[in-house]
Amino acid sequence: MECERPGGEHARDSLEIGLELVAHGNPPEPPGWTVILALNVQCWCPLEHPDHGYHRVRTAEWTTAAPAATLAALDEALTHTAQWLRTFPDPDGWRHRHGLPPRTGRP
Ligand SMILES: [Zn+2]
Repeated sequence: MECERPGGEHARDSLEIGLELVAHGNPPEPPGWTVILALNVQCWCPLEHPDHGYHRVRTAEWTTAAPAATLAALDEALTHTAQWLRTFPDPDGWRHRHGLPPRTGRP
């Protein structure tokens, strides 16, 4: 979906997936990892409010202590992503669920 963003900027509306892998621990201790998954929608807040860029509408997090468990957590994160996108593929559906302003075609 293409729409007009305030200021004349064309913007394509879409869901954005954020996947972050954070290593923690102090050498020589074996590291642990945290897998952080986020589902974001673009900000369409009214002009009088700041443009937040995006809003995070779902998150999930797994903390692991071994590489095999980290790979399993990444696999689970991808499964979550597929479920989220299958449940509500429309960004406006997520905005509505979270009380965020819908995307508009403001000139
Ligand atoms: Zn916003």
